[in-house]
Amino acid sequence: MTKKRLVFSGPPGAGKGTQAQRLTEMLQVPHISTGDILRDAIARSTPLGVKAKGFVDAGELVPDELILGLIRERLGEEDARDGWILDGFPRTVPQAEFLDQLLLELEQPLELVLALDVPDNILVERLLARGRKDDNEETIRRRLEVYREQTEPVNEFYQLRLQVVDGNRPPHEVTVALRKLLEVEPEPEHA
Ligand code: ADP
Repeated sequence: MTKKRLVFSGPPGAGKGTQAQRLTEMLQVPHISTGDILRDAIARSTPLGVKAKGFVDAGELVPDELILGLIRERLGEEDARDGWILDGFPRTVPQAEFLDQLLLELEQPLELVLALDVPDNILVERLLARGRKDDNEETIRRRLEVYREQTEPVNEFYQLRLQVVDGNRPPHEVTVALRKLLEVEPEPEHA
């Protein structure tokens, strides 16, 4: 059976968003990106967005009180019943502990953690080229620091459920590797 409850992990610029989007189409489960949710809330100046903006702009993590309730609600929605791909969450060990507890309550255990591995110098190049609002050099450096300090330990927390994938190659090759890992049938060739 193809695994359908997945966490996508990896540093900023590793290609999580791109790959998660592709997998979501193959697996027919929602792609839940906390970064996208926050950026959307900021763009619409919702109460969440107003509170989160300063943290996001500075490359800092937003406080758990803004994120945990949001995850609980989102995973309780109808379309999340048969699976999901989490991208950008959990970002700290306490967030991972929260998620395990929540999934125990929902009786929906996490099946696999996919970590995209890319060296720092390549990440910085990619992020500068992407040029999102929080992609200036100072913020990038801070986000990478936060990743190494707070998010990388999450991979050790997940040890037994973790699969590391080389993200330093063309997007299509990464997708092929992920598809093999998940044992998703390749798309039929078009004549
Ligand atoms: P990146 O592509 O840099 O990994 P994301 O798009 O996932 O970034 O998130 C952008 C910003 O949103 C982060 O730098 C952080 O400020 C905030 N954020 C996203 N997810 C979380 C989370 N789980 N906990 C705290 N802050 C988060």
